[in-house]
Amino acid sequence: MKDIKRIEKLLDQLRIKEKDSEARKIFAEVFDERTLKTLYKLSAKGYIQALGGVVSTGKEANVFYADGSINGEFKPLAVKIYRIETSEFFKMDEYLFGDRRFDMRRVSKKELIFTWVEKEFRNLERAFNAGVNVPEPYTYLKNVVLMEFLGEDERPYPTIFELKRDLSEVTDVEELYSRIKEHLTRLYRKAELVHADLSEYNIVLKDNDPYFIDMGQAVLTDHPLANSYLERDLRNLIRFFSRYGIKESFEELISSVKGD
Ligand code: ADP
Ligand code: MN
Repeated sequence: MKDIKRIEKLLDQLRIKEKDSEARKIFAEVFDERTLKTLYKLSAKGYIQALGGVVSTGKEANVFYADGSINGEFKPLAVKIYRIETSEFFKMDEYLFGDRRFDMRRVSKKELIFTWVEKEFRNLERAFNAGVNVPEPYTYLKNVVLMEFLGEDERPYPTIFELKRDLSEVTDVEELYSRIKEHLTRLYRKAELVHADLSEYNIVLKDNDPYFIDMGQAVLTDHPLANSYLERDLRNLIRFFSRYGIKESFEELISSVKGD
């Protein structure tokens, strides 16, 4: 019972935009006390001004909208929160070991999730600084990443998966495909990263421009499995875009991305 009281108090401290109790109920159900404390810290530091609604509830993470403030400027935020309890630690291992940026001998099982969050943040930063279209990362703390919200009026822009049949109505698909290739090439050659979970689910369309999201599992190009991840990413793209009449062979695509 004490727990519930403490959680109620934390929820009071977090400014939740929706006045109704529904949002509050969702927050209470989704977050454990530690996560609420982390969110509270991010509001106390001024980053989160007010928490908004749920954008997505995934297997490992939930994404929320928030009004944010970055360097004194209003910014709509995507707040990506990894679930501490139910996250799939084993899958994470494969992408973390072999990444020379992290000394995994020093990371306990409990901290694995925090290392993952740091990795997602650093991947986004690397990609963003290389000029790849990704949401601008702002900060991270424990199991929470704050980044630019790709959307309007608190609603996220659609993924190309969500657009499906409409894709060819809202945009020039050939042009889109070549923009994706351009950013993928920049990601590989300049940021020296392989996304490793690239598919129609992780490409968002903003004003006809593709943005890559969900970069937690991205690895450096010298990771021992980087090539097989890249191959999987490229095959996903070819499969998705073949439905729109785009025909490029895997060999052509990989050599154009790698430039060899
Ligand atoms: P998951 O691991 O659950 O797939 P994602 O990072 O792909 O996590 O996010 C899940 C969903 O949340 C996305 O499909 C997208 O709709 C939304 N989303 C994620 N990041 C952003 C963002 N920066 N801006 C707007 N919406 C986002
Ligand atoms: Mn995703």
